[in-house]
Amino acid sequence: MTPALDALPVRDDLRGKSPYGAPQLSDAIQLNVNENPHAPSAALVADLALAVATAAATLNRYPDREAEALRSDLAAYLSARSGVTLDVEQLWAANGSNEVLQQVCQAFGGPGRVALGFEPSYSMHPLLAAGTSTGWVGVRRADDFTLDLETAVAAVREHRPAITFLTTPNNPTGTVTGLDVVEAVHDATDGMVVVDEAYAEFAVTPSAVTLLDRLPRLIVSRTMSKAFALAGARLGYLAASPGVVDALRLVRLPYHLSALTQVAARTALAHADELLGTVEQVKTQRDRMVARIRELGLSVVPTEANFLLFGPFEQPAAVWQELLDRGVLVRDVSSGPGLAGWLRVNAGTEAETTSFLIALERALEEVIA
Ligand SMILES: *Cc1c(COP(=O)(O)O)cnc(C)c1O
Repeated sequence: MTPALDALPVRDDLRGKSPYGAPQLSDAIQLNVNENPHAPSAALVADLALAVATAAATLNRYPDREAEALRSDLAAYLSARSGVTLDVEQLWAANGSNEVLQQVCQAFGGPGRVALGFEPSYSMHPLLAAGTSTGWVGVRRADDFTLDLETAVAAVREHRPAITFLTTPNNPTGTVTGLDVVEAVHDATDGMVVVDEAYAEFAVTPSAVTLLDRLPRLIVSRTMSKAFALAGARLGYLAASPGVVDALRLVRLPYHLSALTQVAARTALAHADELLGTVEQVKTQRDRMVARIRELGLSVVPTEANFLLFGPFEQPAAVWQELLDRGVLVRDVSSGPGLAGWLRVNAGTEAETTSFLIALERALEEVIA
């Protein structure tokens, strides 16, 4: 905490906490925040510009508070992808899935309640809990970063969380959790079960969306920031029972989704085939990374996402710096729970991936020499 912040009457439970802060270095090849490296096509950019211009003509008015048209498009998109028929009343959207998850914490967490996650996992889950004065219980995954049914069920029985987070594919490990575990956790708790599927479009393991009709306290959260290649627009969403959506209306800010965001997201959804068309290319580059990193004598955790965890290194910070010195920015996650020695990298374009692999080989020579 900075001295200036220290002097202010900030909440006691926020003192000493660090903000989320992955470095943003625009000169480097950025493989550190799991974005899709493929920029929107000229055709999509043109459609976005037109849609935003049309919406701009009525910016004196507040946007549709319920984002009906967008939620209906999201329902159609998710129904088509999952094969499960979803109604607009089951969809909710906000500025990134981070805001969706914050609203879930506001509605279902709060003072006197705890949220639980299986660590290492997404570092924002405990921060969103902290911001809403929700307690946090981090339960460790197995040494290979998987999560077995018995561990998960025992943890929710013991801690009785109001919210349980299951991230699959998990960030930063890339490992997946099966639907049997989701269902068993739901049966073992009275609380909400949030399956964070930010990377679902890259995965082979089926989505928890298929369980929604049977599990009333299940929430499946998704984002347009990763496979959908739209991180800059800030659009996340969830699918759940209509009652969950009603609960979120109690905590959302009025008009939380700007008219510009709503039309941008709808326009992108109309180009879903194009945007998701890059998923196979990304997976190809990821698999190239996996194979080459293993050839270099390192371990890679089996992944179903667009990124991978590699190492372990005795000096992860030194390897991270050597890579950056060669123009490639990866994520040093080694200070996280159970992550000592590990670095995370996401797949880039073919050229970016090549640069990373060459830089890694050189970096290893430097650090070991
Ligand atoms: C990237 C990520 C998110 C998405 O964040 P947005 O706010 O939608 O950009 C959510 N959950 C996990 C696990 C992530 O890695």
